[in-house]
Amino acid sequence: MNTAYISLGSNQGDRARYLCEAVEEIGRHEQITVEKESSIYETDPVGYTEQDKFLNMVIKVKTKLTPADLLKALQGFEHVYGRKREIRWGPRTLDLDILLYNQENIETEELSIPHPRMWERAFVFIPLMEIADSEDLPIKINRKELLGRQDREGVHVWKPKSGGDVSELTES
Ligand code: ATP
Ligand code: MG
Ligand code: MG
Repeated sequence: MNTAYISLGSNQGDRARYLCEAVEEIGRHEQITVEKESSIYETDPVGYTEQDKFLNMVIKVKTKLTPADLLKALQGFEHVYGRKREIRWGPRTLDLDILLYNQENIETEELSIPHPRMWERAFVFIPLMEIADSEDLPIKINRKELLGRQDREGVHVWKPKSGGDVSELTES
């Protein structure tokens, strides 16, 4: 069995519904089990800033799928939610990215794992730090150092995970 972390993002339409239904759909896949879900965060757009705020979260899954097949499955879910790719880093109903897959380093035309931009994106690493088990993280990652960084503004808890304490993760 393999462990993967997936980031989910949406900034168009009924954002919360897209995220929640995507988590359910992923969990219904025969070869994927959702093990943990982060809180949902509302985040300012990064890169292409002339667009609405995002909702972002991260989930931990167990899967028998290879990274390539996991990507295919996720792209199928993106497709179901009507995602069209128009502007790079632009508005989208649903973005599903693989952040980590075991401790593997993968570099193919289709897939870069660990996700190459994850450590510079607070909207990714904050929800990841909320749920990640330390043995799943690359050894170079220091949780304290990451959360002490100055570039965390623009990421706020929107819907806390039930029973979770996220006060350490954001200033709000
Ligand atoms: P970013 O990768 O900067 O978050 P994006 O998520 O908006 O950008 P997409 O349009 O969703 O980019 O995907 C473009 C391509 O990225 C996909 O066709 C896929 O093959 C490739 N890709 C590479 N690595 C990954 C990964 N770890 N997870 C998901 N897609 C990936
Ligand atoms: Mg993305
Ligand atoms: Mg993507």
